[in-house]
Amino acid sequence: MENTEQLRTWLDDHQLDHPLVIAGPCSAETEDQVMQIAHGLKDSDVNYYRAGIWKPRTRPGNFEGVGAIGLKWLQRVKEETGLKTATEVANKAHVDLALEHDIDVLWIGARSTVSPFIVQEIADALEGTDKIVLVKNPVNPDLPLWLGAIERLHSKDIKKLGVIHRGFSTYEKTKYRNIPEWQIAIELQNRFPDLPLICDPSHITGKRDMILDVSQTALDLNFDGLMIETHVDPDNAWSDAAQQVTPATLIQIMKDLKIRKEKDDEAEYNNALNNLRAQIDVIDNQLLDTLGKRMKVADGIGELKKQRNVAVLQSKRWNEILGKMILEGEERGLSEEFILRMFKAIHQESINHQEKIINNS
Ligand code: PEP
Ligand code: MN
Repeated sequence: MENTEQLRTWLDDHQLDHPLVIAGPCSAETEDQVMQIAHGLKDSDVNYYRAGIWKPRTRPGNFEGVGAIGLKWLQRVKEETGLKTATEVANKAHVDLALEHDIDVLWIGARSTVSPFIVQEIADALEGTDKIVLVKNPVNPDLPLWLGAIERLHSKDIKKLGVIHRGFSTYEKTKYRNIPEWQIAIELQNRFPDLPLICDPSHITGKRDMILDVSQTALDLNFDGLMIETHVDPDNAWSDAAQQVTPATLIQIMKDLKIRKEKDDEAEYNNALNNLRAQIDVIDNQLLDTLGKRMKVADGIGELKKQRNVAVLQSKRWNEILGKMILEGEERGLSEEFILRMFKAIHQESINHQEKIINNS
């Protein structure tokens, strides 16, 4: 992608002293609900009011959105509260209607980003627009697919672009609704530092009490903004009830977030340090996940050995592993001493796991 410098200008034009905030309900439900939430957010740091009008639901039978009538409600939000508006578009008809109703931010949802056909249709319909267009990551952890969507829009002369990180689907059970895989967003930021990066902690966590923590991690990783689902009666929301917060909670979250200054030298240093530390935290968590997985595999080996009545310690195989790891470690700048100590500890833990299984009849 060339000429990416201009991609940030729409964000810089805001001259914000806080992260950009997009807030509002997962779905527009009724005119009253839309207006009540908007009035709750009117005197806050919120920059854009979001509401899903067409809802992409994984399975049929759930609430699929109020449709075009909701765009009129968003227009009323803008007139009455001055908040600019944002909604998801998933085809040409949506784009045409959203533009007709002067929606300020159009975003492409995670289920649409996976389809180059849909993204191309939207990009064609938006050609040359001066509206802000944000691209959510695809549901699967695939950076090239995400970048491909951005390139399709960029090549249609859409200048006000940005991305939203909303986490990725996984078959594994985790504490997240969609696992963050922060390293993917970090890589995107490293490759395209001009592309505004917004975090959607609502869809990452799926739970309202985790939103502050994930938002803080995002800010520590230098994200430019947050999209947080907000509802006057979260428990009774027609979609994504567990993850929505009230306008009052959203305002409190914004107060509780530690927002880093960027101006003086001291702050610059702290900024860089926080950013690196946040990356280290992410990597450390991945290390723990990987070690946990390794021990599960060791448990499986324990089960097999138990069935066949084979000894836990297989010295020949262990020495082969160590020799190989010392060489591979060297290639990555890791000392022999470190590799020996680390793998001995890992091996010991593995043996402990297997012992437990073999002796547990
Ligand atoms: C949404 O923002 O309400 C939504 C459907 O999000 P996603 O595309 O990230 O699932
Ligand atoms: Mn939602």
